[in-house]
Amino acid sequence: MSEAEQENVARLRAAAEQARANAWAPYSGFHVGAALEAADGRVFTGCNVENASYGLTNCAERVALGAAIAAGARDFRRVVIVSDALEPATPCGACRQVLSEFGRDLRVLSFGVEGASAEWTVEALLPRAFGPQDLALERRRGRAG
Ligand SMILES: [Zn+2]
Repeated sequence: MSEAEQENVARLRAAAEQARANAWAPYSGFHVGAALEAADGRVFTGCNVENASYGLTNCAERVALGAAIAAGARDFRRVVIVSDALEPATPCGACRQVLSEFGRDLRVLSFGVEGASAEWTVEALLPRAFGPQDLALERRRGRAG
């Protein structure tokens, strides 16, 4: 990794840590922050937002993605995740699916609380994800049948 790349990752990690500090996690006590880097260099952050109705909880990754989409960003380079876990946490299944909508080659870089890191692509985390191609297949079948 080049020096410029290392500086960029450090900037994204700091943004994710700042978001994690704002996490609303009174039920799990598990705080997560995410920083999503758009292709144009903008950075969008998110934190987990829990709810007393547990199933309504939003993850940091999806909160960051929602902010990015609302701001008009559509192309992304990577998402950096920080959590309270010792080991780098992977995105949950729902977040993998939602991230895959915007790029199967999107890089996911995760840091544990003591700095251990791991990196994957969305494709590696969710091979053969459901996507627009599946919807097109269903339409073709409908016309043929
Ligand atoms: Zn998630």
